[in-house]
Amino acid sequence: MENLEKINQLRKIINESKKIVFFGGAGVSTESGIPDFRSANGIYSKKLNRHFSPEELISHTMYLRYPKDFYDFYKKNLIYKDAKPNFAHFYLAKLEKEGKLSAVITQNIDCLHEMAGSKNVLKVHGTIDRNICTKCGKVYNLDEFLNFCKKEEVPHCPDCGGVIKPDVTLYEEGLNMEIFSEAIRQISSADTLIIGGTSLIVYPAVSLIQYFKGKNLILINKSSTDKDYLANLVIHDKIGEVFKKL
Ligand code: NAD
Repeated sequence: MENLEKINQLRKIINESKKIVFFGGAGVSTESGIPDFRSANGIYSKKLNRHFSPEELISHTMYLRYPKDFYDFYKKNLIYKDAKPNFAHFYLAKLEKEGKLSAVITQNIDCLHEMAGSKNVLKVHGTIDRNICTKCGKVYNLDEFLNFCKKEEVPHCPDCGGVIKPDVTLYEEGLNMEIFSEAIRQISSADTLIIGGTSLIVYPAVSLIQYFKGKNLILINKSSTDKDYLANLVIHDKIGEVFKKL
């Protein structure tokens, strides 16, 4: 099927849907200048001059054993303070405002969906905008976190001296089950699930797809994924561009 025909089909599905849920990943934010993990120019392709792979650098083990390397990598590669939402973020926020879309479920830790105006954003891997003192539990936003980082390589809580840890899910860590359960609830009651900008290889987030019981599963991704066969409409293109054509 030609892309134009697919766009027409997508438009028809969206018009006829009563409850759309969107499930996305890093590819949604690449058009905002935030690199994803696995594309050719993504974070995993960065050459490090040390012996750690980027995947290892954002693991719980690294955070515990080599906190300076962990915080250095995290600040340089996962925080894009000046990034702005792109057309994909705005389009999804518009669908929610119109009452068509009930939730955005994202693996992203940036805040671009919220900045675009989306209200029900379920962030299954946490957010850079919440940073928690591991001793007293005090929560700091991104600006506060970055200010602490200016003073020392590993940020500490000014109140109690505990280490401040970003509220993002590192490799080897479990997910926030409250958010995950709500994501399951949303997906299992949707009539249309749009998946976009994700390689669909990070578990357990990917397992969310199995809860979808609705009619239309749409996959919009620049490259093919192992789960393309599950979708009844697959579009291999940039998600912002696809939504623009609608
Ligand atoms: P991933 O890097 O594994 O895959 C991204 C996918 O998006 C790739 O298949 C790529 O082809 C596709 N893609 C890239 N640009 C696209 C575009 N404009 N339109 C459509 N598709 C596009 O990312 P993932 O699947 O989200 O999983 C990895 C982890 O990456 C997640 O846990 C997430 O927390 C983390 N991450 C988040 C951010 C962010 O917050 N913006 C950035 C990098 C990584």
